[in-house]
Amino acid sequence: MERLQKVIARAGIASRRKAEQLILDGKVTVNGKVVTELGTKVSPKDLVEVEGIKIEKEEPVYFLLYKPRGVLSAVSDEKGRKTVIDFIPEIGYRIFPIGRLDYDTSGLILLTNDGEFANELMHPRYGVEKTYIAKVKGIPSRSDLKKLQNGIRLEDGKTAPAKVKFRSGDRKKGTAIIEMSIHEGRNRQVRRMFDAIGYPVLKLKRERYGFLTLDGLAPGQYRPLSPHEVKQLK
Ligand code: URA
Repeated sequence: MERLQKVIARAGIASRRKAEQLILDGKVTVNGKVVTELGTKVSPKDLVEVEGIKIEKEEPVYFLLYKPRGVLSAVSDEKGRKTVIDFIPEIGYRIFPIGRLDYDTSGLILLTNDGEFANELMHPRYGVEKTYIAKVKGIPSRSDLKKLQNGIRLEDGKTAPAKVKFRSGDRKKGTAIIEMSIHEGRNRQVRRMFDAIGYPVLKLKRERYGFLTLDGLAPGQYRPLSPHEVKQLK
C-alpha cells in the first residue's frame, strides 16, 4: 500500500505537493469515489484517476546511461535526431532523462519512469554533486580558477561556489583539462562559467553524479541502477 499522492507523483503528472493539492481539490478518485483525505493509501489493484484520467501504475525503473556526444537529452525529437531514449531497449514504459546534458556533452545521465524521483533529484535543494571534465581553450591560472571556486555572476544570478581541480595543461596546443563539481543544474552552466572567465569549453563530459560513476561503461552503454543505489540517491 502506498500513499495516494506518492502514486500520482510517481506517474509524472505532478510534484508531490501539487498531487496533494489535486487531492484536496477533489480532483482525484479511487475506484470511482472522490478522495480528499491526504493520508489515503492505495494498492496496485485500486483504480486511481486524476481529473478522469487513469494513472498507470508501473514498476519504477532506473537506468544509468553513458550519453555519447551528439545525442539529445529528450524523449523525442521532431528533427529525428538520436535521443538518450534510443539507447535503452523498448521496455513498454515511458522513461525520460533526469535533467539534461547538452547535445555536445557526453557522460552520465539517469533515466527513469519515476516522476517523483526525477523531480526530487532535479530540485536544487537536493543538490546532488555533479562532476564535469572540461577541455578548455587556453590555460587558466590559479586565480582564474579561484573565480570559479568563489562563484560566478551569470545573467541568471551568481552561481554557488564550485569545486575546481586543474588536471593538466598542454602548452603546445594551448588547452587545459579542468575538473569542476557543482550542485546546481542551470542550463549550460559549466560552459557559461568557463565563458565568463575567458576559457571557452571545447569538450565537456559529466563523469560523476553524486556517488555514481561511468565505471565499466563505454559511450552509448547503459546499466540499471541497483535497488541499493536507488535507495542511496533518495
Ligand atoms: N553544464 C553545461 O554547460 N552543459 C552540460 O551539458 C551540463 C552542464
